[in-house]
Amino acid sequence: MSIVANLQQVKSDIPSNVKLVAVSKFHPEEEIEIAYTAGCRVFGESRMQELDRKQKNLSKDDIEWHFIGTLQTNKVKAIIPYVHTIHSVDSWKLLCEINKQALAAGRIVNCLLEIHVAKEDTKHGFSIEECRSLLTENDWEDLKAIQIIGIMSMATYTDDTSVIRSEFKTVKNFFNELKDSKFKEKDYFTEISMGMSNDYHIAIEEGATIVRIGSLIFGERK
Ligand SMILES: *Cc1c(COP(=O)(O)O)cnc(C)c1O
Repeated sequence: MSIVANLQQVKSDIPSNVKLVAVSKFHPEEEIEIAYTAGCRVFGESRMQELDRKQKNLSKDDIEWHFIGTLQTNKVKAIIPYVHTIHSVDSWKLLCEINKQALAAGRIVNCLLEIHVAKEDTKHGFSIEECRSLLTENDWEDLKAIQIIGIMSMATYTDDTSVIRSEFKTVKNFFNELKDSKFKEKDYFTEISMGMSNDYHIAIEEGATIVRIGSLIFGERK
């Protein structure tokens, strides 16, 4: 199947109020260009240098670049001039650095707090307890150049859909908790980024507002 056909297939599977991030990591500019021509404007990348190269080579102002990988603080500055949303905020230090660089660049950058619910410890993010403390112990409301628009999570990589579903339910419940507590009256706190190629149907059923899909659109990564 072609990228264009894959994209149409995935889009037809996703309700219009759920945002699709086409995860283009490891795929070359030419393939992004094909998806772009087919109407796709939202792309996800997980490595700073790769994102930076693609952003410059493609130089399309109307692409919304989402950063979805682990981000080191010393790599923040490079992507701040153009990054639309950072999905993978996993420390207070990182949030402060994003704010600092965004302030210097005169931008407001959307951030999602990454929540760890999966069984594998290879996956990053805050435990629910850590995330609660982060928002209790720090003056995040003083960070004027970032906006925490929601939370992001990855489920365990497993064939057992009941495990995946229960992890997504946990994420959704935690989102609701934050919406009713720390983010009460924060209209911008609206996003739940969860669901990838293998589990996005379940994620949507469990309340995802953003799905991040790579291999189903672009094929297997080399
Ligand atoms: C690679 C990646 C995806 C996309 O994964 P696919 O299985 O190819 O859809 C989504 N989210 C994150 C955080 C990723 O690193």
